[in-house]
Amino acid sequence: MKLAVSAPLIHSLSISQREERFPVNRIFCVGRNYAAHAREMGKDPDREPPFFFMKPSTAIVDASMPTSVVYPSKTHNYHHEVELVIAVGRGGRDIPVAQALEHVYGYAVGLDMTRRDLQLEARDKGRPWEFGKSFSKSAPIGAIYRVTDSGHPGTARITLSVNGKTQQDSDIGKMIWSSAECLAYLSEYEPLEPGDIIMTGTPEGVSAVSAGDVLQGAIERLGSLQISIEAGSPKPASEGV
Ligand code: MN
Repeated sequence: MKLAVSAPLIHSLSISQREERFPVNRIFCVGRNYAAHAREMGKDPDREPPFFFMKPSTAIVDASMPTSVVYPSKTHNYHHEVELVIAVGRGGRDIPVAQALEHVYGYAVGLDMTRRDLQLEARDKGRPWEFGKSFSKSAPIGAIYRVTDSGHPGTARITLSVNGKTQQDSDIGKMIWSSAECLAYLSEYEPLEPGDIIMTGTPEGVSAVSAGDVLQGAIERLGSLQISIEAGSPKPASEGV
């Protein structure tokens, strides 16, 4: 097959203790899955059905080793959201909750980096969230821990610190919708495929970061990640207007 333009790259993540890598297909993200975070965003934490948004595979940053991301353009309120990440190993549709975890390859700690100002503006105008959520390198994710090595974490401390100061500190057991429920529900709307990623929502304590900050995220038994924020390059004068 001859391609008219160069093919997109396959984006992939490290797998703990393995040489092979996990190829990333689609990234589904759950909104407001911890009551205390829903409250801090000015919303009622009712157990309404979960809702999802997506990030492109270009959002992936392999953060299994300390790395950096550039402060994105067009925002003055760039937020961290630390989240439990599910890596889907086996596809399926209309998956029952009781069988949902059989479709999980592994878990990791990840960050749903957010241009909060653009997300809230879109939210309040009833517009899509893409500019706030779905930009390149907006999903740094640590090494994936395979279910065969680490099991299915039901409760585990989840933390995020900025320059050594704890900003988010909760437990994944406080998720309103469990990993199995998120996966099963999503599969009713979209057949899941191997390589899909589900980011399961963030606990309270989200805050803005600046160039020079160092972020450390961790989930008990699922390792940690570290990213530093680099200053964005100044806009060339020719891009003016
Ligand atoms: Mn999130």
